[in-house]
Amino acid sequence: MLCLLMSFGGDKLVKCFKYIEENEDNIKSILNEKMPEYKEKASKLFKTVIDTLEKMPEEEHITYEFNNRKVYACKNKNEDIRLTSSSGGFFYELASYILKKQGSVFGVAYVDKEVKHIEVSDLKDLYKLQGSKYVESNMHGILGALKERLEAGKKVLFTGTPCQVASVYSFLKKDYDNLYTASLICHGVPAKKYYYDYVKELEKEENDELVEVKFRYKEKNNNHILLQYVLQKKSYVNLDSGDIYFKTFLNNLNLRDSCFDCKFKLYGNSKSDFILGDFWGVNEVVPDFDDGLGASAVITNSEKGNNIFEKIKDSFECKEVSIEDVLKDNPTLTDSVKLTLERYNFIDNCNKMDIISAMKFSLANIEIKKLEKKIQGLEHDVDYYSATLREEMAKASELENILSSKRFRLADKIGNMFNKLTYKIKKCNTNK
Ligand SMILES: Cc1cc2nc3c(=O)[nH]c(=O)nc-3n(C[C@H](O)[C@H](O)[C@H](O)COP(=O)(O)OP(=O)(O)OC[C@H]3O[C@@H](n4cnc5c(N)ncnc54)[C@H](O)[C@@H]3O)c2cc1C
Ligand code: SF4
Repeated sequence: MLCLLMSFGGDKLVKCFKYIEENEDNIKSILNEKMPEYKEKASKLFKTVIDTLEKMPEEEHITYEFNNRKVYACKNKNEDIRLTSSSGGFFYELASYILKKQGSVFGVAYVDKEVKHIEVSDLKDLYKLQGSKYVESNMHGILGALKERLEAGKKVLFTGTPCQVASVYSFLKKDYDNLYTASLICHGVPAKKYYYDYVKELEKEENDELVEVKFRYKEKNNNHILLQYVLQKKSYVNLDSGDIYFKTFLNNLNLRDSCFDCKFKLYGNSKSDFILGDFWGVNEVVPDFDDGLGASAVITNSEKGNNIFEKIKDSFECKEVSIEDVLKDNPTLTDSVKLTLERYNFIDNCNKMDIISAMKFSLANIEIKKLEKKIQGLEHDVDYYSATLREEMAKASELENILSSKRFRLADKIGNMFNKLTYKIKKCNTNK
């Protein structure tokens, strides 16, 4: 079905999905009233899709795109590769396969403090692309270089966020058998400005120059999510919960605007040969997988993807799972993160104060709101329990009343019986 929709082209496809999402209740009337421009050209195709979607129960809409895709939990058998990868080290093996075929891999690295896409054609440089960098990467000059390699007949692997993968396909405008793509499950990416402003402030505070941040630093026997800051003169490790950049990212304050209404989670992902992500919650799906070093969620999205997977799968411990298993703890595969009022405050504050203060200010506000919610919850609990207590006490005193009146009647009865008995005994004695 997606292939049919693809014939609309990227922009129209995205519009169709947006309309479907926004107007789920009345899709047929939208087709007739609000989309006459599509109706004329494409109503047949679109109607088939709409009819199919309408026939499906609601919760199936979201997983529909992934039907017939193979989904795996994978972890690289080589622990050293997993230690230097964000999740299960699937990317490293995929890229190695292409490099061993004299191909080129395009991915994201730190170059002179900047986060950018680069081309790697030698296995010894592959480490540069490993690990997630939570910053928008600079793609300058990459699409042209990629096309040149493809035209020269080299195998090429491009990896990036779904929007970057979509940009590759829309730039090339034709299919290449020698092109392979892997898009990431994407929470959203922090905008360059906020990252580089943060680095400037951090360097001032540390009186040192930052070389790179390893956002998903791993240590053996340490199950926490860690970040390593590598400066010229020193390096240090932060726990995710103690790192303001990571918390700003996870609270969606510093993301690019487009990430709040992402048009590419379905489109970009549906075009790539692989979708790669962290397998959050793997312990519930494949319990013996979870050793704290990370597992990848891998979706093979095309025949090309399936073929390469078969060739490299022996490097992994693998288990086929369902798309629901991945979505359960990883909704960003299909859903955009929520835009909040605090995001506006953060942007506003960035113009009034230095970025680290703006981050701290917004994170404190978020904590205060969480506390307020907790207090509201507790107040509600106190009200609820004191009302219940009052009810229970009323019931107890009612019972007490009943009981005492029963006791009274019982005592009365026993008194009467006792009187009767004494009278009878007396009478017996007199008769004797
Ligand atoms: C900004 C961002 C948000 C993410 N959000 C999620 C999420 O919500 N849920 C989830 O399951 N997974 C998410 N991921 C993906 C996940 O963190 C891993 O990258 C993925 O599981 C691959 O891990 P790996 O162990 O196979 O290989 P790794 O060695 O970790 O693979 C790194 C790959 O990521 C690419 N990459 C690194 N930084 C960037 C960047 N800034 N932009 C584009 N590509 C980059 C590299 O080119 C390389 O291909 C995100 C990644 C990034 C960069
Ligand atoms: S959330 Fe969407 S727009 Fe944002 S980086 Fe990811 S794919 Fe691109």
